[in-house]
Amino acid sequence: MNAKVLIIEDEKELGELVQLFLEKDGISSVLCSTAEEGLDLLKNNSFDLIILDINLPGMDGFEFLQIFGKRSTTGVLILSAREADEDVVLGLGLGADEFVTKPFAPKVLVARVRALLRRLKTPGESSTGISFGKYVLHPEGYALFKEGERIVLSTKEFDVLRFLVMHPGKVFMSSEIYSAVWNQAYGDITSVAVYIQRLRKKIERDPSNPEFILTIRGKGYLFNKDGG
Ligand code: CA
Repeated sequence: MNAKVLIIEDEKELGELVQLFLEKDGISSVLCSTAEEGLDLLKNNSFDLIILDINLPGMDGFEFLQIFGKRSTTGVLILSAREADEDVVLGLGLGADEFVTKPFAPKVLVARVRALLRRLKTPGESSTGISFGKYVLHPEGYALFKEGERIVLSTKEFDVLRFLVMHPGKVFMSSEIYSAVWNQAYGDITSVAVYIQRLRKKIERDPSNPEFILTIRGKGYLFNKDGG
């Protein structure tokens, strides 16, 4: 894969480790230690993907994203020490494509980078989307659009939504959604309710009175493609 990655990470050893693992996988990268340097590099170079640390000296990752803005052709993978940062980034609509929480296994990070690069290369327009209400979901491109505008979803949020959208009109128990999306038979199935709640906040007009992702009391959830 002929891709170029910009790594913005102030922990030198960690940055170099990531760089080394990407290199082993044939992905070339440039490492810098501040967001300011990163913005400078972006002025004269194009990158396919940015691996961005949140906690940086000077300008932090959030501020970087605000300045960098949403550029659909450049992917952003956030490295963060706190899971709560994901909510901040998504809540502010800062346009990140992927989150990896520290500490992480370098192999896992490289796999996420590869998956993201593939996703970015998938032309969303040419793949067939699935419509519901004012939305179009592109299962391969990992993208959801509302009247042409991209709705930012985390990978897992997208996975849950995709599962529901692809099985409209059918009732699923939390445990069924869990085993299908998380690929595990057992685990914390309460996560399903958490993700459904997040999705409702993003796609429902009134999240407390959903029209797409319906709760069927005592049975589970049903996706109503004619809602909205
Ligand atoms: Ca840091």
